[in-house]
Amino acid sequence: MTKSTKDPITGYDKTSLSVDEAVENILLHIQRIESFEVLPIRECIGRILAVDVVSPINVPPQANSAMDGYAYKHSDPITKSNNQYKIIGTAFAGKPFDAKVGQDEAVRIMTGGVIPESADTVVIQENTSIFDNILEIMKRPELGENVRLAGEDIKKHETVLQRGHKITVADLGLIASLGMGDLKVYKRPKVAFFSTGDELKSIGSKLRPGDIYDSNRYTLFGMLKKANVDQIDMGVVKDTYEGIKAALIDAETRADVIITSGGVSVGDADYIKDVLADIGKVKFWKVSMKPGRPLAFGSIGNAHFFGLPGNPVSVMVGFHQFVSPALTKLSGADYLRPLRITAIASETIRKRPGRTEFQRGVMSQGANGHLQVKPTGDQGSGILMSMSRSNCFIVLPLQSSDMKAGSPVTIIPFSEVL
Ligand code: AMP
Ligand code: MG
Repeated sequence: MTKSTKDPITGYDKTSLSVDEAVENILLHIQRIESFEVLPIRECIGRILAVDVVSPINVPPQANSAMDGYAYKHSDPITKSNNQYKIIGTAFAGKPFDAKVGQDEAVRIMTGGVIPESADTVVIQENTSIFDNILEIMKRPELGENVRLAGEDIKKHETVLQRGHKITVADLGLIASLGMGDLKVYKRPKVAFFSTGDELKSIGSKLRPGDIYDSNRYTLFGMLKKANVDQIDMGVVKDTYEGIKAALIDAETRADVIITSGGVSVGDADYIKDVLADIGKVKFWKVSMKPGRPLAFGSIGNAHFFGLPGNPVSVMVGFHQFVSPALTKLSGADYLRPLRITAIASETIRKRPGRTEFQRGVMSQGANGHLQVKPTGDQGSGILMSMSRSNCFIVLPLQSSDMKAGSPVTIIPFSEVL
């Protein structure tokens, strides 16, 4: 019998890496891919900026009115003793009034209308009365009130977005407001992936005894789609040394990243390790986590390699924790860890010390308005239903044991790739 490497008191396996150590190690080996393309802004949602966006103009370009009312020159009551002004014209949005406004004059102005020369303040029409083309201000605004200044939103030459930023829907509007029609972005990483296993059948074929349908390629497809990369789906590869070797060599010529599922344990049909010893530089790690303990990471030629375990939940957790940050960094984006928040466990959560657990949970708002969470029943690494029913991971730290109902726990809401 082999001696256990686990500490009998803490349960910690000294030959294992912690999740954080594994992520750090992976990120050390990943550099962004320096290749670019210029795309029309509509095609840029979710893409990563390869340059800073610097505004070529002031936004708004000229001072304009925030309200419907009258533009005039605000002067102190000593130089102008009455509140009456002669209305000398109108400024519409897009149709400026192009003459100077004297001390006793005002211009009717609409929201977005350019403030005429010499005027500096807009009185809203609700605070005025008009008689015979004479404006009387009933309630005086402060100097500059209701005026949007030139460059108030964005100044000319201001950096509005930085390299590495992931373009959002709001950014599209922002960039359009600068008059820019296209952007330089990083090219998307190319990711090749396949499933390994003699038992795996593709959808459409009949299951013989012992067969199961391949589900990992579908969850991987979905996560890669959300990660916004170019995908190369290489199907199912049988558990043979030659088959796996040929597939990996082919993948290396086509992709920046290779992901496989299955065959990374030490079973008799687990060939990934043998092949990689011959054609790659790959480390096989035990990560102190559940699910997803065995993990392979390294390189084959110029491609990064991730060997995820075969169990369907392990694939999703492993992708979320390790592959997703790597793809983020590779794609040129500033890496941001997924948001972790605190929720109250609404029932007791079972946990053994010695490993970080990513239990699948349902978060919701309790009657008192606080965020609460509970696990989705059976937490086996093969139970994909636990993922399907959940909307977050409950992250239980390495050394923690059972969490009592009512205690605060850390959760990661599904958002980016799940
Ligand atoms: P392995 O890591 O190859 O030992 O596989 C672990 C478990 O996951 C086994 O029960 C496999 O049948 C299952 N499995 C492996 N690959 C897939 C897949 N692509 N889809 C569904 N189940 C899988
Ligand atoms: Mg297998």
